[in-house]
Amino acid sequence: MNMEDYKKNHENKEKIMEIIRNILQNSDVKFTRKFLEIMKTVSSRGFELLKYALPIFVLTFKFMEWWTNQVKSNTVVDQSNIPTPPEALEQHPDGLPIPDDVTICPLCHHKRTNTAVTSTGYAFCYPCIFNYIEENQRCPITLVKLTQKI
Ligand SMILES: [Zn+2]
Repeated sequence: MNMEDYKKNHENKEKIMEIIRNILQNSDVKFTRKFLEIMKTVSSRGFELLKYALPIFVLTFKFMEWWTNQVKSNTVVDQSNIPTPPEALEQHPDGLPIPDDVTICPLCHHKRTNTAVTSTGYAFCYPCIFNYIEENQRCPITLVKLTQKI
């Protein structure tokens, strides 16, 4: 490599450096560099922050869960709005017999499911009494006329 080659090489290096400087001074590149710097800072500090923030968040969440459960369990249900069941009417001699076990449905003779009480004061499974009233329009025990209206 002679002196001229060295000069050419040096000039080329200068040109390349000039181009790089121009690129770096371009606003988009500046923005990108700033963005990368910020991302580096955030990622290094973010993990540190996460180390403390995550347990605090979980503890706070668990505390709030416990607190709301405490409030719910301490809430007294207002029973003044719950209607009292109707007084049971006299059983008709031709009506169905009332089972000895009060949990048994007089219609299907199984343990009641989805209990419904008629205005005559007797409890049945909802599907049983609904179908019975639809067909017979009366209480199966008192034989009093009933409709499906509540
Ligand atoms: Zn039933």
